[in-house]
Amino acid sequence: MSNSGTTLTTTVDFHTGGSIPQMGLGVFQVGPDETERVVLDALEVGYRHIDTAAGYSNEDGVGRALRASGLGRDEVFVTTKLRNGEQGYDSALRAYDASLERLGMDDIDLYLIHWPYPAAGLWQETWRAFEKLLDEGRVRAIGVSNFMPEHIEELVADAKHLPVINQVELHPGWQQRDVQEACRKHGIAIQAYSPLGQTAALELPEIVSIAKDHDVSPAQVVLKWHMQHGIVVIPKTTSRDRMLSNASLDDLQLSSEEMQRIDALDGTGQVGNDPRTFDYNQMPRN
Ligand code: NDP
Repeated sequence: MSNSGTTLTTTVDFHTGGSIPQMGLGVFQVGPDETERVVLDALEVGYRHIDTAAGYSNEDGVGRALRASGLGRDEVFVTTKLRNGEQGYDSALRAYDASLERLGMDDIDLYLIHWPYPAAGLWQETWRAFEKLLDEGRVRAIGVSNFMPEHIEELVADAKHLPVINQVELHPGWQQRDVQEACRKHGIAIQAYSPLGQTAALELPEIVSIAKDHDVSPAQVVLKWHMQHGIVVIPKTTSRDRMLSNASLDDLQLSSEEMQRIDALDGTGQVGNDPRTFDYNQMPRN
């Protein structure tokens, strides 16, 4: 599934023939005032994949950093996401144009439905709009986020184009194997959000112990575990030093025994919202 290369140049293939850099920088909770500096730091460090969302209110900062970097449009992979409150056919099309405007881009590499907003038929209608954007060549790839197996099956049954990726909460303590299995069955790539469990994974004694054995940081162990499983990761940090260390994984190789010890940590804890139960109306902007 992954091509060989360094941590920041390795890619994961899409079923459509495109691909995504396996490691990117996530910018959830990066303030509008600091986003440009943070993204520019990441691009200077060598990151070529940025994960934002309309709901993060920092797409414009991402766009400014891309322009300031001097990198060409095809050198950086940019993902953004549709807010819950903009689900629906016409509103999704309008929201896409507004994201392009804020980013200052003509198209986006990957557009995601942020959550399977459960109001009757809404996300199915939204997917039709995403398919139209793809058919018209206005977006390079389309995918979903927070889709559970039942959402994936419902979408697949009725879709003209399958999502290339499903971005879900995934870290040692919350591995969502049922979701991973449903994605693999349909050739949908898996992307881990909160890949460090918003730091919770870094405290797990097994992770700390493996990190000591390799003389690396707990974050490096966790990120390498994801990558050896073929999962796309988007760790968030505003620190340039952490951007660098999180991406310095070329010399680290986890043994199959170490991989299994981390696999066995599943169930120690979800840190985000549960897509099956949380009240979407509480997060219309997300
Ligand atoms: P992460 O698991 O990436 O953890 C981020 C936290 O880890 C921050 O507090 C950061 O602090 C800290 N951190 C980063 N690197 C290190 C390190 N080497 N050592 C110690 N601490 C470290 O959580 P997020 O929830 O931010 O998820 C990452 C990305 O996933 C988001 O930015 C967003 O793009 C995406 N996401 C998507 C969601 C969705 O619904 N689709 C939901 C949630 C996230 P500091 O900045 O101080 O370094």
